[in-house]
Amino acid sequence: MTMTTMRKLYDISPLISPRLNVWPGDTPLSREVLLDMKQGANITLSTLRATVHLGAHADAPRHYGADAPAIDERPLDLYLGPCQVIHVKAKRASRLVPGDLPRTLNAPRILIATGTFPDPERWNTDFAALSPALVDALHERRVRLIGLDSPSVDLFDSKDLPAHARFLAHDMAILEGLVLKDVPEGEYELIALPLKLAGFDASPVRAVLRAL
Ligand SMILES: [Zn+2]
Repeated sequence: MTMTTMRKLYDISPLISPRLNVWPGDTPLSREVLLDMKQGANITLSTLRATVHLGAHADAPRHYGADAPAIDERPLDLYLGPCQVIHVKAKRASRLVPGDLPRTLNAPRILIATGTFPDPERWNTDFAALSPALVDALHERRVRLIGLDSPSVDLFDSKDLPAHARFLAHDMAILEGLVLKDVPEGEYELIALPLKLAGFDASPVRAVLRAL
């Protein structure tokens, strides 16, 4: 018999409850209980209604490109595999630039902890985002996915979404709404698979990091 060492798991998903904030105007979570064993039913059965941009989620290119692939059309390996977590000192309501990144990046998936969206149950509009130049720079370094602890890769009041446009141009993947404050910098295995939602512009994910 061989002993297997359990590799530490970090859950980087916020709790999904009606208290979890969604983008202003978007549909928050609600649960309708159709059958309830505590009321004498033979099973408990409930219906979920919510935006697909709920908590930790993957944006599909369809979200920012009208004819671009939906979330069910995306390769799963984008969301599964070697990953590096970095913490940056981000100014509120600013866009991170290439100079904010460490010189050495060792993984094709980069998760950036900005600390500018500290409580998913209390929405703040002055979270940090990405500059188009940073997305270009990470593409040049063969990065295929960027994840953030804020609700968007563009600033809250951005309408032309220049960072999203660079993800579309490079066919890169986006994770938003991650909880990274308790994760030390370093390399991990990312597991954050989106649901196979036909034609959808995003999907919630259960985002997890596994120690190497
Ligand atoms: Zn989104």
